Amino acid sequence: MHCPFCSAEETKVVDSRLVAEGDQVRRRRECLECHERFTTFETAELMLPRVIKQNGQREPFNEEKLLAGIQRAVEKRPVSIERVESAVSQIKHALRATGERELPARAIGELVMEQLRELDEVAYVRFASVYRRFEDVSDFSEEIERLTSKENQTQ
Ligand SMILES: [Zn+2]
Repeated sequence: MHCPFCSAEETKVVDSRLVAEGDQVRRRRECLECHERFTTFETAELMLPRVIKQNGQREPFNEEKLLAGIQRAVEKRPVSIERVESAVSQIKHALRATGERELPARAIGELVMEQLRELDEVAYVRFASVYRRFEDVSDFSEEIERLTSKENQTQ
């Protein structure tokens, strides 16, 4: 880690703590040359598995795409951005926890559905309808049926 003030290579860590629910490490560093102090945020992003698309192509996990997808699903629903972000970090946590280097896109879709089911049922159905467009239609109607019977139970 080069010093941003004098570009010296030797810096020492004077403080280190986890931030963003443990996804990031915030480090306070001091330059051994000019003694300026600066802060770095280091993420374990590289540990996220790559995504295997349906056509077999691999691509890096894209957090922005995930966030955008969830935001689209919760549009005009009473779901705060904090809850959306927390859902994203739980999905990332679950992905890392698999320890896999590559995962099918479908596995990520399942995790998103799990989170959306907790967040908001309308958002969940919206996402499911898009996500399962190319899947067996009976899966989707079963899901709707399950939701409807759940709604009836709570009434
Ligand atoms: Zn320096």
